[in-house]
Amino acid sequence: MPDARADVAIVGGGITGLSAALRLADSGVDVAVFDAGRNAGSDANAGSLHVQLQSRFLRLFPDQAPNVEASLPAYLEAVRVWQRLDQRLGGVDLVRKGGLMLAETAEQLDFLEHKAEREAKHGLDVEILDRDAVERIAPWLGPQVFGAEICRDEGKLNPLVANKALRKTVLGLGVRIEPAEVLAVRASGAGVVLTHEGGTSEFDQVILAASWGTARLAVPLGGRVPVAWEPLHMNITEQAEYVIEHLIQHAERPITLKQFRSGQIVIGGGWEARFDPDVGTPEVVESSMIGNVSLAARIAPGIRNLRVIRTWAGLNTTADGKSIIGPLEPHRNVFIAVPGDAGYTLGPLIGQMAADMVLGETPEMDPSPYAPSRFL
Ligand SMILES: Cc1cc2nc3c(=O)[nH]c(=O)nc-3n(C[C@H](O)[C@H](O)[C@H](O)COP(=O)(O)OP(=O)(O)OC[C@H]3O[C@@H](n4cnc5c(N)ncnc54)[C@H](O)[C@@H]3O)c2cc1C
Repeated sequence: MPDARADVAIVGGGITGLSAALRLADSGVDVAVFDAGRNAGSDANAGSLHVQLQSRFLRLFPDQAPNVEASLPAYLEAVRVWQRLDQRLGGVDLVRKGGLMLAETAEQLDFLEHKAEREAKHGLDVEILDRDAVERIAPWLGPQVFGAEICRDEGKLNPLVANKALRKTVLGLGVRIEPAEVLAVRASGAGVVLTHEGGTSEFDQVILAASWGTARLAVPLGGRVPVAWEPLHMNITEQAEYVIEHLIQHAERPITLKQFRSGQIVIGGGWEARFDPDVGTPEVVESSMIGNVSLAARIAPGIRNLRVIRTWAGLNTTADGKSIIGPLEPHRNVFIAVPGDAGYTLGPLIGQMAADMVLGETPEMDPSPYAPSRFL
């Protein structure tokens, strides 16, 4: 491995780490990114730009719901950051036609109505639609759909395109991406020393953007970053005529469904996968595939005859529902950058904010509610 010396090291080369690298490189900082090259949520995700409260999250993690709700303005800001990134990267198939959360019963629509009231207070552009109104904008929905909440701030993009374009852009700016796992991080005088697969290197400042891998790295520094992995399932179909413009979710059932510009339909939404750390990669659970695509076919009967061409499993990262950004006290030169729920949506914003803090500049959003010190 070539000498990894740079001003700033970033551990983790997913959407968050590379977005931080982009911001720093734009400011003329010499950056090295260390990436273990495995189980990046960014390589497994579905490309939904989430803004409204996800019913799945509210159901599974009710204790974290207040944190996600308090973060709603961050999701609005995150989509704006993605729109700028879309332009900068020459297009990542970003479409912002809004997201529909479907109700199949009056009770579910009632739940959505209360949810929309809470979201509107945080500035989200939401509205409750009855069956006729939903049908006008999404005539392909199943006959049982009773109504929906539309969140006009939501959208979708193609993460395969985005990841490739971002990587190419940062490499073009001189960022070095080292394919190496960082084994340990320790403070050394005014600097920070990384022990990695290629040896040992010292930096002025370090950003830990290693999602599920961040907890272990923080411990020897006396830090506590309580992140956990969550193995999740995904499917993608063959190409079909492009008709589904919105991001689709359900008020009660776990599903996200969207169509890429290519015509392929991506189906996910939090169905479980299996993960044994000794095996090292998450594995598909057959019942998740069957349950997930059956639900999709009920919601959108027209896709019933499409073939699923690929299924995969990936590691999501959860914490307490809020992003974690800022210095790992008492080390003022080690920064954490871990996005909260829907981390691909938040990743560019969180990465840029961490980079702003490294540069000593004021981030776009007040980082204080997201400080790692809340776990001490
Ligand atoms: C199946 C699935 C679907 C999803 N769908 C969506 C979606 O539609 N919309 C959305 O907003 N979010 C979605 N997410 C969540 C989202 O993908 C992640 O939250 C986000 O990509 C995290 O980005 P990141 O850059 O912070 O971390 P990651 O992309 O996880 O990258 C972290 C990197 O750090 C590396 N690393 C870890 N430890 C070390 C170490 N010690 N040394 C060096 N490198 C290390 C890893 O190998 C990895 O490459 C989904 C997640 C999954 C699993």
